[in-house]
Order: sequence, then C-alpha cells, then structure tokens
Amino acid sequence: MKDIPKSTTFELAVAVHIQATLRQAWFTQEGDRTRVLVYVRMRSQADALAEALGCARYYSDSGTEEEKAEVLTRWIEGRRSRILVATSALAGVDYRHVRVAFHVGEPGGGAIDYAQDVGRVGRDGQGGLCAVFLPPRWQATYNREGGELLSENTKAMQRFLDSPRCRMVPLSEYLDGRGQSCKNEATACDRCRLMGLPSNSILRHESLLTSLYSPHIPPYST
Ligand SMILES: [Zn+2]
Repeated sequence: MKDIPKSTTFELAVAVHIQATLRQAWFTQEGDRTRVLVYVRMRSQADALAEALGCARYYSDSGTEEEKAEVLTRWIEGRRSRILVATSALAGVDYRHVRVAFHVGEPGGGAIDYAQDVGRVGRDGQGGLCAVFLPPRWQATYNREGGELLSENTKAMQRFLDSPRCRMVPLSEYLDGRGQSCKNEATACDRCRLMGLPSNSILRHESLLTSLYSPHIPPYST
C-alpha cells in the first residue's frame, strides 16, 4: 500500500483554491461533462494534490500503460472525479469539455507547453478558465543576474507571469512574433480586466471564455 504523500502548505493552499473555484456557480451549474485539469511539475505534487482533491493522478510511472489509459477513460467518463492531476507526461488528450486548467507553480515547459496545455480548455466553444498558482515567494529570474542564460521559451513564460500589464503581449510576442494584447472578452487576461477591459460581462459564465490569470497564493500559516 502506498504511503499517503505529505502535502506541503503550498499544495494544501492550492487545493483549497481549486475547490473554492469549482464551487462557484458558473462551474456547478455546468453539466456533468465538464472536466478539470491540474498540471503539476513533480510527481510528489501530483500525489499530494490527488489526495487532497480526491481525484486521479497521471504521470510517467503512475501506472502501467494500461492503467494510465484506464485513468484517462475513467476521468473522461467522470466515473471517479471530474478532476485529473497530471504532469507533462499527459499527452494526446482531446476531450472537448475541459473547462478549467490550473498550473501549480511556474509551468516547467515554458510558453510553448503552456499554450498547448491551456489550448485544451474550451474546445467545445463554451470557454473556460486558466490559472497559474505561484508560491508566495516566486519571482521571475529572467531579469536577474544570470537570467540571460534562460531559454526564450522560459523567459516568455516568466514575462507572462510577472507582467504588470496584459499577459498576452509577452506570450504572443514569443509564440507569434508580434505582441498582441487582449482585444475582447474572449481572451481577456486578469490584467486587462483590472484595467477595465473588457466590460463587466466577462464575469458572467456565458461569456467567461478562456482567460488567463495568475493569482499568488497568500502565505499560508502553519
Ligand atoms: Zn490581457
């Protein structure tokens, strides 16, 4: 029998935020077909969060190939939980009703993998929500000593995370070669929302399309 992994305070705080988000009306009013992906960087995080959220986990050696395929099938069919915690080992998922994608910690695959991960959200055209949870003391390193050694992919990810303005600009600058800010509510990031673009209607579920934000988890007292 596997030991129950010991959650860190960060993972516990993340689990609380995830559960709170999934209790919001716009999510609970959805039908049973909607799914949630929680991307983590490490297996230990996957174990801890899966325990805390009561859901399945998926990483390179979380089971045999057959067992992992079964985990995916169960998640898609909603047999155990609508949430799946996974590392970057998760690939080839094409389920149309993924409504929420959370990343726990700075996404390890940089801007390219991040764009692919969040691209799984809202393929049914019903939109969704994407959020990155950062540890309280997280800081970008691209603008610090030695930061020039980071790959452009990582720098773009960090610029997205620490941007005081529209997050889409550094992301699209890197991915598409030209920086484009959010133009409408369909792609509005939290920064644009704070600055008054788009209209308040973004907060209504029917217009809550893929949005990107990165709330810092407040320090968690132990
Ligand atoms: Zn924006």
